Amino acid sequence: MRNELATKSLFELSVSGRRAASYPSCDVPEKPLSEVLPSESLADTPPPLPEVAEGDVIRHFVNLSTKNMCVDTHFYPLGSCTMKYNPKRHERLAGMPGLVDLHPHTRPEDSQGMLAILYEMQEMLAEIAGLPAVSLQPAAGAQGEFTALLTAAAYFRDKGENRKKVLFPASAHGTNPASASLAGFECVQLSPSKTGFVDVDELKSQVDDSTAVFMVTNPNTLGLFEKDIALISSILHDAGGLVYIDGANMNAILGITRPGDFGGDMMHYNVHKTFTGPHGAGGPGAGPIAVRPFLADYLPGPIVTRTGSGDSATYKLTTPPKSIGRMRSFFGNVGILLRGYFYLRTLGGKGLREASEHAVLNANYLRAKLADILPSQTDSCMHEFVGSAKKLKDERGITAMDIAKRLLDYGFHAPTVYFPLVVPEAMMIEPTETESKETLDGFIEALRKIVTEDAETLHEAPLTTPIRRPDEVTAARKPVLCWSACEVES
Ligand SMILES: *Cc1c(COP(=O)(O)O)cnc(C)c1O
Repeated sequence: MRNELATKSLFELSVSGRRAASYPSCDVPEKPLSEVLPSESLADTPPPLPEVAEGDVIRHFVNLSTKNMCVDTHFYPLGSCTMKYNPKRHERLAGMPGLVDLHPHTRPEDSQGMLAILYEMQEMLAEIAGLPAVSLQPAAGAQGEFTALLTAAAYFRDKGENRKKVLFPASAHGTNPASASLAGFECVQLSPSKTGFVDVDELKSQVDDSTAVFMVTNPNTLGLFEKDIALISSILHDAGGLVYIDGANMNAILGITRPGDFGGDMMHYNVHKTFTGPHGAGGPGAGPIAVRPFLADYLPGPIVTRTGSGDSATYKLTTPPKSIGRMRSFFGNVGILLRGYFYLRTLGGKGLREASEHAVLNANYLRAKLADILPSQTDSCMHEFVGSAKKLKDERGITAMDIAKRLLDYGFHAPTVYFPLVVPEAMMIEPTETESKETLDGFIEALRKIVTEDAETLHEAPLTTPIRRPDEVTAARKPVLCWSACEVES
């Protein structure tokens, strides 16, 4: 293989006149383009497309694809993101022609099968949440938060209550305050907690009759189950406010406890996290929400409803009477919902509980084995934990970023770093349930080796990847997605 196939762009590989396909010669009289298309539609010069042979194109893209780490190639313990293995069986099922070829404008009476699936999905999500009214509309967790907050705002407006404040802990995911302010609320952040749990006294002092919602991730972003969640919920409810559960960490509690049972009034799921939708790098998601019955009338539509049961069941699309309106076209991100549906149907209630138990076991195994080099705040965790590299930084100048980057050289995707913000030099490690003990031991061994390496090497890491230390902020805010032959927008 010519090595440049993996490193050069298609423009650099281009050789004038080379083609990936050849067409039969034209067997009808040719006409000049100017007779077929209006002159203002014709370019003066042809576009600068690369001219490359098919084999070179294939090698170019296959080689490029292997430069990325993904769940199918590497252990991927990216905390909070739940990078679960995405079973190929569910991909195949979700790709069945009867599902993917269904046009979203098909009349409900002609798409009863799809509606039955979506109805069952709503029912399963309601059951897992302990919250009976579900909307499948939101396309991601963040949009689920936003949707639920708009739903809450409509509810308070309808009751004639002017509640402006949304509260959240300092460890909250950035999407929580972003959603709250987009939905028109004032954001109030609690001070960073020393124990890792919500400070109930501080919460009490902040909650009053202008409080609309308390948003809380449970288990929280430190991987701890908020032990006072029932008390927290009653503080909010006594003041007439609502409790929003950020469900990004549902993988720790499936079939064990339910947001509706511990006081949540609304929640979102991240189907792409908890229920194995393939995700990463901004890929497709689904963020259905579940709410208590008194909020159901305000949910976005359409919602699938059923009349009759068994073989005589029929399904239709309805819009709740005081609906806030649509959040997304058609029925939500059906492709991801289907993968989640097949995952839920495959595992069943018992299987889901087992998945969570294994996720918690794996996280505790890593936490315990790494406690001396990456200590965390508590001596047990749920499905993830946040270790701190602060001591390594203070003593030897080795940062969480250095360790994360070096892990790439050892063949592991890095954990989430510097989140939550309340832990210095945070490394948030979430192994998920499907990893074997051998994989976990390999990861432990790599980390233990890395922290013995000299600081200079670690500052330089990664040493083996095609791109080493990009300016991540600029890369995210001003991505250059064009080869320089195209005009680069500044
Ligand atoms: C991922 C995540 C979100 C946002 O979900 P998206 O599906 O990425 O929009 C919100 N809160 C927490 C705690 C998360 O981990």
